[in-house]
Amino acid sequence: MQEEVQDYPRLIGEETADIAIVGGGYCGMNAAIHAAAKGLKVALIEAGRIGNGASGRNGGICVPQYPGAIPPSVVEGVVGKKKGEALAALVSGGADAVYRQIEAFQIQCSAVQNGWMQPAHSDAAMQRARKVFDEWKALGASVTWHSSADVTDRLGARGYLGGWSNSQGGTLNPYSLAVGLARVALARGVRIFEHSAVTSVEETESGVRLRSNGGTVLARSVLFATNAYTGDFLPGVQKSAVPVYLYHVTTKPLRESVRQQILKSGICFTDLRKSGGFGRLDSEGRLMSGGAVFAFGDRVGYGKKHAHARMKMLFPAITDEDTELDSYWEGYCAVTDAYLPHVLRIGRNVFSLGGFSTRGINLAHNLGRLMGEFLAGARELDEIPVNVFDRRHDVPLWAIKARVARLIFPYYQLKDRLGLT
Ligand SMILES: Cc1cc2nc3c(=O)[nH]c(=O)nc-3n(C[C@H](O)[C@H](O)[C@H](O)COP(=O)(O)OP(=O)(O)OC[C@H]3O[C@@H](n4cnc5c(N)ncnc54)[C@H](O)[C@@H]3O)c2cc1C
Repeated sequence: MQEEVQDYPRLIGEETADIAIVGGGYCGMNAAIHAAAKGLKVALIEAGRIGNGASGRNGGICVPQYPGAIPPSVVEGVVGKKKGEALAALVSGGADAVYRQIEAFQIQCSAVQNGWMQPAHSDAAMQRARKVFDEWKALGASVTWHSSADVTDRLGARGYLGGWSNSQGGTLNPYSLAVGLARVALARGVRIFEHSAVTSVEETESGVRLRSNGGTVLARSVLFATNAYTGDFLPGVQKSAVPVYLYHVTTKPLRESVRQQILKSGICFTDLRKSGGFGRLDSEGRLMSGGAVFAFGDRVGYGKKHAHARMKMLFPAITDEDTELDSYWEGYCAVTDAYLPHVLRIGRNVFSLGGFSTRGINLAHNLGRLMGEFLAGARELDEIPVNVFDRRHDVPLWAIKARVARLIFPYYQLKDRLGLT
């Protein structure tokens, strides 16, 4: 069973709120829910429908690890020791926190917590995976090391030399989760507006005024949770992360005999290839795959062909018939130069939070919650364990990187083939 999609009104006329949140994804909705829980009057404004951005379009893999094989020690180098320790605790416990919240809110989103694995496809990947495993183990995370044979058995996938897993990871239906969060926010008194793109922000003595095409909201403080979908009306937020265009496909439900061989325990995985080595089954037994969009020529055809080949390469039990596709979708993911999220302080009482890379189910939920509590006055800004920048923090050469991100996929595939990843 999935959440029932609800319609929310457009912002029309003049509204007031203690806190206004722009963006109806996991970050904005968690901030809204947890600020409202502290008794604040909250308005949430979304340009399209709830879940319109990455939150309704992601792969549904909930991961208790930083992007790729970034170990906690490297993160400490970026955010400092105190925040690094706090962020490691948030990341390692964050997947579990997402599942506990889904349970508490009774969100119908096929949430399954059967673990997540990071298998290694090359000698270089083995070294990186081992390092990240050792660091999490030393920090007391629920991690296990697996031999090559064990990885093969658990994933039903070939070619892996070993890997590690965390039992708290899992899978879910991303769009239903977004829809469910909106239902909970509404029940807690958050006023939700859809089809209301915010086009200007102005901070005055009386508060922060947001304008959309239909109305205004005057609030004491504002959070932009617009992430990779920010657009150019807020260039400081837009250029603080590169919007990387990703796609996913699912097969039709797999045959029972194949399901007994692939991801049979319901575990999901993400390897260290640059060209999309991951997999999960959905509640109907469809296998998901994907990669970065190659936005040149027939981009959908290119993606489908790649996904088909990738599934056949990884899973020996799969035939051409099994890789007949059921669906294809795309979305923008915000990637910062450090692959870590950050807060931008745009004005005295105007903030943005984003840059969750491919770990937004965990990070956008848990950091969104902390941000909501900060906006409600229940914690200090310094307690949010990411870098807080008081002035612009653009990704160097942003325009070039944003363009290259849409063309670089064949290069990533080549690097993987040559064993360089
Ligand atoms: C294809 C894909 C696969 C991914 N896979 C995974 C995965 O498996 N696991 C994982 O953990 N993460 C994954 N991610 C990343 C994850 O989805 C994101 O990090 C997360 O959803 C970000 O949430 P958010 O709330 O910050 O932003 P979003 O969900 O993108 O929400 C931003 C919202 O802001 C709205 N908006 C923008 N501008 C305005 C405006 N001016 N006025 C009003 N509203 C505005 C947009 O319409 C949008 O709805 C994936 C991302 C993509 C694209």
